[in-house]
Amino acid sequence: MIKVVKFGGSSLASATQFAKVGNIIRADESRKYVVPSAPGKRNSKDTKVTDMLYQCYALAEEDKDFHIQLKKIKERYDSIINGLALKLSLEEEFKVIETNFKNKAGKDYAASRGEYLNGIVMANYLGYEFIDSAEVIFFDENGNFMPEKTDEVLSARLQKTERAVIPGFYGATEEGKVVTFSRGGSDITGSIVAKAVRADLYENWTDVSGFLVADPRIIDDPKTIKVITYRELRELSYMGATVLHEDAIFPVRKEGIPINIRNTNAPEDEGTLIVESTCRQPEYTITGVAGKKGFVAINVDKDMMNSEIGFCRKVLQAFEEHGISIEHMPSGIDTMTVFVHQEEFEGKEQQVLSSIHKLADPDTIDLESDLALIAVVGRGMRSTRGTAGRIFSALAHSNVNVKMIDQGSSELNIIIGVKNSDFEKAVKAIYDIFVETQI
Ligand code: ASP
Repeated sequence: MIKVVKFGGSSLASATQFAKVGNIIRADESRKYVVPSAPGKRNSKDTKVTDMLYQCYALAEEDKDFHIQLKKIKERYDSIINGLALKLSLEEEFKVIETNFKNKAGKDYAASRGEYLNGIVMANYLGYEFIDSAEVIFFDENGNFMPEKTDEVLSARLQKTERAVIPGFYGATEEGKVVTFSRGGSDITGSIVAKAVRADLYENWTDVSGFLVADPRIIDDPKTIKVITYRELRELSYMGATVLHEDAIFPVRKEGIPINIRNTNAPEDEGTLIVESTCRQPEYTITGVAGKKGFVAINVDKDMMNSEIGFCRKVLQAFEEHGISIEHMPSGIDTMTVFVHQEEFEGKEQQVLSSIHKLADPDTIDLESDLALIAVVGRGMRSTRGTAGRIFSALAHSNVNVKMIDQGSSELNIIIGVKNSDFEKAVKAIYDIFVETQI
């Protein structure tokens, strides 16, 4: 059994957190490959080492003095090293970093040092081998990740290594220029490593006990999702439920390797298991509910629209021409509605409307702003009758006016449009009907 374990920044923010991580790793023989993030926040007012590095490098780039900032970063590591009583000095490493900063080695190089140094500390603490990700994770000249080359080199390297620490977040081009993933990208590294060693499980340790059925800012103490499929996760993450980097599912998904989200501060909790498919029915009919505010609905009407070939295409072309992406598109016989992000749309509103007029010649166009979209997601909906009915009666009881309904043919989700001001009330009503009352 091989497990790849990734630890997020808050799990590695201090010596105390490192000690918890050490206990977790030592508690299970199969936790052989470790992917650390950079030290994160120790409390809500603290700054992540990654952000400290970006700030420090911004000074270097302007040829300003940055040694105080760099010293503060070194202090973060020294307090971990001393707290764990390790015989390790990062003096030489910091000299190299200082020189490279002066030579303007790049923003990505700067940010990557957070994970790089934490990897060195972690390897020393665990007695595992340290592997610099710049040697095993590859990007092309344009900064795109190279999956095949990486898999080839990384799996060959890890085959020879019983236990290793591979820092998250970065890799390098074939010429050795360091490139990072987007923020939160250590999750992706963990997934790449899991694929390379054909792991049985990818454990992603963070500071929450998994995905929650609903947003805790709206629902008090919501239930945790025990098992979720990749597709359900995509739907919920897209609607704002973020625990894992979106791109982290792709490398493991193809290999059928499950991801287990776990909590470093509550290791006894089972967390959430993310799988390709499962015969385990969710505890409730719905797996989760998530949503976002800030949409505009553009209603386009034209008599006999349904028989006019190409009408929808022309309307959509107007959005495409102005670079606006479309969220949802419910339609009727003589009407179609396009949902877009309000922020994206506002600045280009009049241009888009005039393009629609020019291209599609509709009878009327009207706009409704300040709308929210809510996704009710669940593989269990397929086999349960009356889910939609229950949602809408719950919303009606809560006095929420439903503006739009869209159910995908996969029956995996139902999207509901409501007014921004009804958003929280609607999420609560849906959560209550499926989770609290459980009828
Ligand atoms: N340290 C990086 C960040 O703060 C990457 C990560 O933690 O995954 O975004």
